[in-house]
Amino acid sequence: GMADAGAPTIFDKIISKEIPANIVYEDDLCLAFRDIAPQAPTHVLVIPKIRAGLTQLSKAVPEHKDILGHLLYTAQAVAKSEKLDKGFRIVVNDGEEGCQSVFHLHLHILGGRQLTWPPG
Ligand code: 5GP
Repeated sequence: GMADAGAPTIFDKIISKEIPANIVYEDDLCLAFRDIAPQAPTHVLVIPKIRAGLTQLSKAVPEHKDILGHLLYTAQAVAKSEKLDKGFRIVVNDGEEGCQSVFHLHLHILGGRQLTWPPG
């Protein structure tokens, strides 16, 4: 549901600016900042400012559709502002086998080099 279930994560402290992050975009609903351990020349995370139960994508309910659309729209806008005109990838890791490590929904934007497929 929309209740903010789940333990706080490091991203709460980034949202509240208790810990620094290299922020590339921010609005009322979301924050985009550079990943601390970049896997590509450009590696930006886009997160909702209010987690609202979205510890991971698979927790989505119909009430999350607007924020999910906003996050995906923002990701492509950030890719443009990062000049990823030759292409990029948006990734959402979900759960253990998806290699999710932070349980606050986030979209990875990866680009700036030739990416490979399939991913590992
Ligand atoms: P996940 O593995 O959950 O899909 O992605 C979590 C991402 O958050 C990882 O790529 C990791 O490097 C990044 N990350 C974890 N802690 C921090 C932090 O304190 N600051 C920033 N900028 N990124 C972080």
